[in-house]
Amino acid sequence: MTDFEYVSIAALNQYAYCPHRCWRMFCLGEFVDNQYTIEGTSLHDRVHTTAEAQREEILQIRAVWLKSEQYRLIGKSDLIEETDGCWYPVEYKRGHRGEFDNDELQVCAQALCLEEMTGQPVRLGYIYYAQSYQRQPVEIAAELRQQTIATIAAVTQLLNTGIMPPAVYSARCKGCSLYAQCLPKAVGKVACYQEVN
Ligand code: SF4
Repeated sequence: MTDFEYVSIAALNQYAYCPHRCWRMFCLGEFVDNQYTIEGTSLHDRVHTTAEAQREEILQIRAVWLKSEQYRLIGKSDLIEETDGCWYPVEYKRGHRGEFDNDELQVCAQALCLEEMTGQPVRLGYIYYAQSYQRQPVEIAAELRQQTIATIAAVTQLLNTGIMPPAVYSARCKGCSLYAQCLPKAVGKVACYQEVN
């Protein structure tokens, strides 16, 4: 496998959701749409149509490429805002707040890039949930930073080795667009059968 120069921020989100899904998407190049991914893409298309705006004291810039040399990260932010000299990322998501923390990790990765690009600390980011019209603050705290940095290392290793993480059936599989490709229940049964025989 090739050494990847930069890790996509989107890959971090997918890895935190399911390492096997990340492997399918970023090592095999597999992608299948379902209702959730189509709604997500259409939301992001709408968000990215306006380039820049000034709302009261807040400067907003949409669809900005973010990059970190330190963490070898790259990705497009839906929106970055600046108020009182402080920049922070805002990530748009369909639906409402989920039970998994992969979106928080994505916002933290954007914050790490913004810190490097602006030379200013980023202590807060937001996730805007389109279904509830609410912004959820994400504190860029030490624990989340560590989790994000560990995930960057794990994704870098995954991309460099191409070694397939196991497909483990969980609550996450219910909304996964790659279910039919992955068949985690069947794969789990075969693994159990092989273990006892
Ligand atoms: S179906 Fe489940 S195990 Fe398979 S890729 Fe999706 S989330 Fe991962």
